[in-house]
Amino acid sequence: MKFGTKVIHAGIKPDPSTGAIMTPIYQTSTYVQEAPGKHKGYEYARTQNPTRSVLEENLAALENGKYGLCYASGLAAMDAILKLFAPGDEIICTNDIYGGSYRLLTKIFSVFGLKGVFVDMTNASDLSEAITSHTKMIWIETPTNPMLSIVDIESVCEIASKQDILVCVDNTFCSPFLQNPLDLGADLVTHSATKYINGHSDVIHGCIITNNEVLDEKLRFLQNAAGAVPGPMDCFLVLRGIKTLHLRVERSCQNAQKIAEFLRDHPAVSKVYYPGFEDHPNHSIAKKQMSMFGGMVSFDLVSNSYEMAEKILSGTKLFSLAESLGGVESLIGHPASMTHASIPKEEREKVGLTDSLIRLSVGVEDVDDLLQDLDKALKLVS
Ligand SMILES: *Cc1c(COP(=O)(O)O)cnc(C)c1O
Repeated sequence: MKFGTKVIHAGIKPDPSTGAIMTPIYQTSTYVQEAPGKHKGYEYARTQNPTRSVLEENLAALENGKYGLCYASGLAAMDAILKLFAPGDEIICTNDIYGGSYRLLTKIFSVFGLKGVFVDMTNASDLSEAITSHTKMIWIETPTNPMLSIVDIESVCEIASKQDILVCVDNTFCSPFLQNPLDLGADLVTHSATKYINGHSDVIHGCIITNNEVLDEKLRFLQNAAGAVPGPMDCFLVLRGIKTLHLRVERSCQNAQKIAEFLRDHPAVSKVYYPGFEDHPNHSIAKKQMSMFGGMVSFDLVSNSYEMAEKILSGTKLFSLAESLGGVESLIGHPASMTHASIPKEEREKVGLTDSLIRLSVGVEDVDDLLQDLDKALKLVS
């Protein structure tokens, strides 16, 4: 089955009791048993819920995996993965991972003896140097946020597999439509389904997909034992969002390309970060592992000043100033004060994350209106 068919059909069957074509919302906490232990496979809704099971199967198919697991948020999914490890273990991460992922590892799991090591993974030798006998997992985020650097998933997996190290890819920025890390050798792929997968900015949700039966068993045990499961209504909404994933992400990518080109030619803009440009330092890797170049664009201003950035951030009308990404509506954000505020200024600026850097999550609106909106806002600083 091709991707555009999977989003509609994979794991989805008419409801056995009524024939309802859409997966019902099984809003229940428990299931009646005929006799002790005699039931239809459902005992208690933390453990199993039919709406969730359909979504888990669908998500597994989208990432070309065998097993899918759903969580109450993207961070709950990461929390489950980190619980696979023990005190003394080391996890190597992309240096500019999502702030919440950084916080989970350094503020919570560090207390339990897990060590996070942060390296620039666009540089393979940096990665090899960071590996020790305690390294148990490599955590990749690509494209990175907000600089949109690309990590070569296949190369990292090659390095890891020689030393029995697991690789997990946080695939949130791509969605399964653009990139399938399991096909490139990753052991686990995770998403904040809050973003592209749901795509309508009305749910917090996370998932994990794997082909590894042992990992699936351990994660399924943790999912039930720790209990960070999503409710059936949220699973329904995510299932509904997925049906248009391919259409939404394709349009976002097309819009982002036009916007990146417009910004590159604008006199008030000094630099545009977009992996689809041929002169992007990792363009060839992006071309190899992604089917399109994504819906995210970051750019910096000639003036290099926060005051000018602020004018643009509050000057757009269609691009709403908000955290998050991957929804049908376009968003504009200021990484230095929003998502990356906890990182010291000197550290930020080393990677180009200046006070005037602006990040766009390009939605699926008509691109002419989006361009006009940006053009008007940029006039405020030109
Ligand atoms: C948003 C996000 C998360 C966290 O997901 P939540 O659903 O907000 O818990 C993790 N990774 C990335 C890349 C994200 O953008």
